[in-house]
Amino acid sequence: MKVWYRNHRPLWFDLILKETPVSAQDTSPSPPERVLNVLGAFLAAPPEGTPPELVEELARIGGTGGDPLPPSLFFEAVEQSPLAISITDAKATILYANRAFEALTGYAREEVIGCNESILSNNATPRSVYEQLWRTIGRRQTWTGTLVNRTRAGGDYLAELIISPVLDDAGEPRYFLGMQRDVTKMHQLEAALRQQKARIETVLDAAPVIMVLLDCVGRVILDNQEYKRLLGDLRGREPLELFAEALRAQAGVELLACCGAGEGFKDVELSLSLPGSGGTRWFSCSATPVDESEASARSYFGAQPERGEHRLLLLANDITQRRREIERAHLENLRARLAEQQLMHGMREALAAAIYQIQGPLNLIQAAAGMMRSGGGHADALAGMLEQISRSGAETLAALSAALPEEPREAGVLVNVNTLLRQVLEIQTERLLANGIVVDWRPAPLLPEFPGHKNQLRAMFKQLIDNAIQALGEGRRAQRELRLSTRALDGEVEILIEDNGPGIAPEERYRVFEPFRSGWRNRRGRAGMGLALAQEIVNAHGGSIEVDPDFTDGCRIRLSLNTARKEER
Ligand code: FAD
Repeated sequence: MKVWYRNHRPLWFDLILKETPVSAQDTSPSPPERVLNVLGAFLAAPPEGTPPELVEELARIGGTGGDPLPPSLFFEAVEQSPLAISITDAKATILYANRAFEALTGYAREEVIGCNESILSNNATPRSVYEQLWRTIGRRQTWTGTLVNRTRAGGDYLAELIISPVLDDAGEPRYFLGMQRDVTKMHQLEAALRQQKARIETVLDAAPVIMVLLDCVGRVILDNQEYKRLLGDLRGREPLELFAEALRAQAGVELLACCGAGEGFKDVELSLSLPGSGGTRWFSCSATPVDESEASARSYFGAQPERGEHRLLLLANDITQRRREIERAHLENLRARLAEQQLMHGMREALAAAIYQIQGPLNLIQAAAGMMRSGGGHADALAGMLEQISRSGAETLAALSAALPEEPREAGVLVNVNTLLRQVLEIQTERLLANGIVVDWRPAPLLPEFPGHKNQLRAMFKQLIDNAIQALGEGRRAQRELRLSTRALDGEVEILIEDNGPGIAPEERYRVFEPFRSGWRNRRGRAGMGLALAQEIVNAHGGSIEVDPDFTDGCRIRLSLNTARKEER
């Protein structure tokens, strides 16, 4: 600071300092001389703690650069200064006060000269403040602070004060230079602002919605408790960054661009993944542009805020609970549909089995009839009877075939195999847990969607997982594992379903796909039609299914579904 002053001090100070030095012998020079003397000494060596703006202001009053004011004019400038200036002796007895001091305090200078500055004291200032004031200036440092003062008329005002000691040539405080301004209005405004802010914060914090006010570079201007709670859940990662990323990735909305353009949006649903066991949380987000009134000088005549000065209020409503309920209801629905389908398959299997069973005897009867016919003669009557049996048997078959329920035709929609497998796994969770099976689920991060029949595919995946569960139950492994993975290949999606159960013998690899082929030890409820139907479904999707011959640690079913196939209408 002293270095600054040396570079900027007006020329006339050197003159004053030479002619009117502050000395211990200095006996009451005339007011102008004393003022110039004190100010000159102060500016020559501003005490520690003096605000640079004050030194600058006083230097400006005296005129800087090549055109310094003569001392008489400088004294007049001090007199006219808008800053209330007073000069006291070492005991705070007022020796000089300028016009602004008179205007601020209501005392004429003749009334206050000779009085202690305590004449302005109001009982509302704590004693400790005065003690600190005197300790500071006693250490030859500048004190800055706020006191509650009283005017001559008895009105209170809040004075922002700067008190600087001016030392004599022996280094002792000879004078004190006091400068004060009324900051009552500012204090009232600040108090009103604080109160307003407290009110707004109370309302924001009471709202059960995340609220955050941001600027166009993504800074948080204001937030509420719900936002802070999410910040905690995210372990310090700024929620605003995650919202911006999720809005971009999941809804194509650029949050900061919206802020810059002064545009909002409504009810955009997105999900955030929370670290640890936080799981996925769903939010419905809306944003409203906020045009804050501009505080800069150029806005005085109503200039509009710059593009970058817009604000955006982002509201995020946590809809995780609702979302979970919808998903649960969806799964329940699926579960019911799968059970229905399973029932239908059961019926189909049973009827198909009956047809199959009847076919055998019928064949025999037909053969016997043929033989008898070739034997000739008396056997004709028997042959006629057998033919009748055969005819009625064929009619039974036709009736049974007609009774077979039609597989419901399902509309082809775009399917994502990962979603279907995940749904089936969720439905099977309880069974998998009850059987102590560890599931290793490795979906491909990105799978092409293709036209297919969701219900059929879901039923097929359930059948294959059911098979794996049964195989694991019949195996002897202590650790039961089910591994599922998907990957996108050229024009197809490959699905691997592996279990570390007893596996399928090489000679059975193809036969297991025949109808009524069953190798289970426990055949209850299993007609041996599961893989036959799975093959039918895979074929309908232009794909293939096989038992992987290279897999020896159990059974691996490899499916591939054609993604390039056009849906038949
Ligand atoms: P006081 O008994 O005067 O002082 C209270 C405490 O201050 C004392 O216990 C003591 O610790 C300390 N103290 C007082 N005088 C001295 C001293 N000479 N040396 C060392 N310590 C001392 N006060 C205001 O209320 N309003 C103002 O605007 C104001 N402006 C001031 C401007 C200048 C330049 C200076 C030097 C002082 C100013 N003061 C002002 C402080 C004022 O002089 C009084 O100290 C204060 O008002 C308290 O007065 P009091 O009578 O209540 O208590």
